Amino acid sequence: ENPIGAALELRSVSKKFGDFTAVDGISLTVEPGEFVTFLGPSGSGKTTTLNCIAGFEEVTDGEVMLGGKPLTHTPIHKRNIGMVFQGYALFPHMTVEKNVAYPLKQRKLPKEEIREATDFALEKVGLTDFRHRLPVQLSGGQRQRVALARAICFRPPLLLMDEPLSALDKALREQLQQEIRSLHRDLGTTVVFVTHDQDEALALSDRIVVFNQGVVQQIGTPRDLYQNPANAFVSGFVGES
Ligand code: ADP
Repeated sequence: ENPIGAALELRSVSKKFGDFTAVDGISLTVEPGEFVTFLGPSGSGKTTTLNCIAGFEEVTDGEVMLGGKPLTHTPIHKRNIGMVFQGYALFPHMTVEKNVAYPLKQRKLPKEEIREATDFALEKVGLTDFRHRLPVQLSGGQRQRVALARAICFRPPLLLMDEPLSALDKALREQLQQEIRSLHRDLGTTVVFVTHDQDEALALSDRIVVFNQGVVQQIGTPRDLYQNPANAFVSGFVGES
């Protein structure tokens, strides 16, 4: 019943802004249904790489493959990728329900299907009773749950999250980490999650990709990275967030 997450592959992806190389030939594979986190200090190229996957940025070189197909010439709205941002990016004048239904309406689905998918997503994030509220009437955590519901309502094979919890306090952050994990288990969607917070990466991920100055410094499971004191992961990021 659950759709399987799609495989994601980056083949020597580079992104330049003028003479400056923000992403320098990154290659990696994310398995279907895997939860992978991009971890690294500010400016290391995490968001730019995510934007190349989403289609907000055009790659300068290389190729992004989703489900075995190149995305280079696929416009954003046809990539079928769910997105969650740090700043929620909700429409302030729309109710919770209308925010969540927005991508479904864009896809011109029949009313009945829109209703069903919206109910499904709101239930998944526990906001069924808040459907008629406006974003301004919600807490930060609830707003991010709305953004999550909007990102999963069309059952995307890939979900991208860019520092979605960074604006929240620690207790709420940990609670939402749990919720995101169980949502991921439940849906089977492939996830790429960006953070500069090492503990968050350790708590969430199947594998962690450590970025540094536009290149991949290291890839491994939380256990691999945590147990290997010889790597930059442990020595380089402690105390940084
Ligand atoms: P991170 O997400 O790891 O913090 P970014 O991908 O946002 O890093 O940025 C990587 C580098 O690319 C930074 O030095 C940033 O200043 C630069 N950069 C990002 N977007 C642009 C842009 N639109 N124009 C010029 N430079 C950019």
